Amino acid sequence: MNPMKILIANWKMNPSSGKEAKALFEAESGLGRLKNIEVIICPPACFLSLLGGSKSVKLGGQDLFWENPPAGGGAYTGEVSGKMLKDLGCEYVIVGHSERRNHAGETDEIINAKLKTALKSGLTPILCIGERDGEEMSDVVASQIKKGLADIGKNQLEEVIIAYEPVWAISTSGAGKECSPDNALSAAVFIRKILTEIYGNFLAQKAVVIYGGSVDAGNGPSYIKQSQMAGLLVGGASLEAEEFVKIGEAINNL
Ligand code: PEP
Repeated sequence: MNPMKILIANWKMNPSSGKEAKALFEAESGLGRLKNIEVIICPPACFLSLLGGSKSVKLGGQDLFWENPPAGGGAYTGEVSGKMLKDLGCEYVIVGHSERRNHAGETDEIINAKLKTALKSGLTPILCIGERDGEEMSDVVASQIKKGLADIGKNQLEEVIIAYEPVWAISTSGAGKECSPDNALSAAVFIRKILTEIYGNFLAQKAVVIYGGSVDAGNGPSYIKQSQMAGLLVGGASLEAEEFVKIGEAINNL
């Protein structure tokens, strides 16, 4: 497991101007001075070229197209390719976020194609999985892992980050529920059980599994200390630089 704790900011479709994006990035990239965390900021694709300057934090895309035509582009209106993200300085890309599953109709098959394309493009995919309110965690997570990682070989698992994000715990989901550290621990253990079935115990234990869902500076450390999570994926709180920096400082000091 990566000894550095991972802290990912998913800004989603925010902020609304390049000026604000630059200011937010500048405030958050100060976290790059901390030695025990790897900070990855995922802004909207249109801001990536404005933010490429910092070496202290990494950049990630929020999505990519499921194919990488040899030329790196093609007749796919509105899409962004893995090659383009790489060219803009990204090292990571989120795939399968629940908002894309729900609003853009992304299936596990599409997500698997995106994950493979990310790897081929030299990007580390951050595979989001998690059940919706009222669904059984084990059924959904087992299926999303198996389908999302289909054809991903043993030597590639270590290049993937798995983010457990129970949809009902995401701050904007409307469910208004919190995922307790014990609950997240059960999910982390279950995820490794499924990974063990596919990849064996050694690789399953090494796999990078992180948590996302209403994380803030108060609860963030508990998901790492009590839930065996290797890091955090932060949505809403990543739009408030002060809170995001506090989360980073808190987990850096664990
Ligand atoms: C997310 O949507 O990935 C997320 C973690 O959001 P939030 O932190 O706002 O719950």
